[in-house]
Amino acid sequence: METVLKVENLKKKYKNFTAVNGISFEVKESEIVGLLGANGAGKTTTIHMILSLLMPTSGTVEIFGKNLFENREKCLEKMNFVAPYAALPYNLTVYENLVVFALLYGIKDYTDLIDLLIKEFKLEKFRKTRAGKLSSGEQTRLTMAKAFLNNPKLLLLDEPTSSLDPTTAWELRNLIWQKMESTGGATLWTSHNMNEMDKMCDRIIFLSHGKIVQMDTPQALKEKFKAEDLEDVFISISKGN
Ligand code: ATP
Repeated sequence: METVLKVENLKKKYKNFTAVNGISFEVKESEIVGLLGANGAGKTTTIHMILSLLMPTSGTVEIFGKNLFENREKCLEKMNFVAPYAALPYNLTVYENLVVFALLYGIKDYTDLIDLLIKEFKLEKFRKTRAGKLSSGEQTRLTMAKAFLNNPKLLLLDEPTSSLDPTTAWELRNLIWQKMESTGGATLWTSHNMNEMDKMCDRIIFLSHGKIVQMDTPQALKEKFKAEDLEDVFISISKGN
């Protein structure tokens, strides 16, 4: 399997505070990797550096072997991103939002693709609704539909299901899994829902105070910590056991 994302010795310092402290990891094709850790552990900071929204203090990020900061455009066109805080233009309808992003991504024949995404993400009845009028869960569906417009080879998910009811969360996480599996894309996913991470992730990275403290499959972590579930692993790690 080809390495899609390679992070080496990545560090982000804010004056005297180090939010991310020299982390290294890889995500390969078709892999879903969970980035877990307590509030303030450095997850979003890491995601934002991988999106090149934030410049690292030091370290490198490679996408398909290319340095992200030296090949920003080429790398970003292979990526997409879902986060509840990344709001879409609220005065545009669902359909208009998807058209605007399709055009931004340089997709010429977008009509069938948008129709398919609207159907897959159950947005049919909101097609002509302005994004600002959608509930937070409906906005998440739209953000997810937007994220699949460019057929991403690397998908970054920052707590994407935090505003979703259990049934919708279940539907959407399965849809994400199916879509990434079918294209062989790689996914880096942050969540505080340990059950979700246990089900979805091939590997888990635990961050604590900006450092990687554990990195393994969910099963191996449960065995290592003699834990029934990933929540127990999380609690053991936070307590420093
Ligand atoms: P959560 O689970 O709460 O979303 P997180 O793991 O995503 O947390 P980050 O948002 O990455 O955490 O923040 C890591 C640390 O960096 C936090 O202590 C935060 O207060 C700090 N931090 C983030 N941005 C800045 C900034 N611009 N200046 C100073 N400190 C910052």
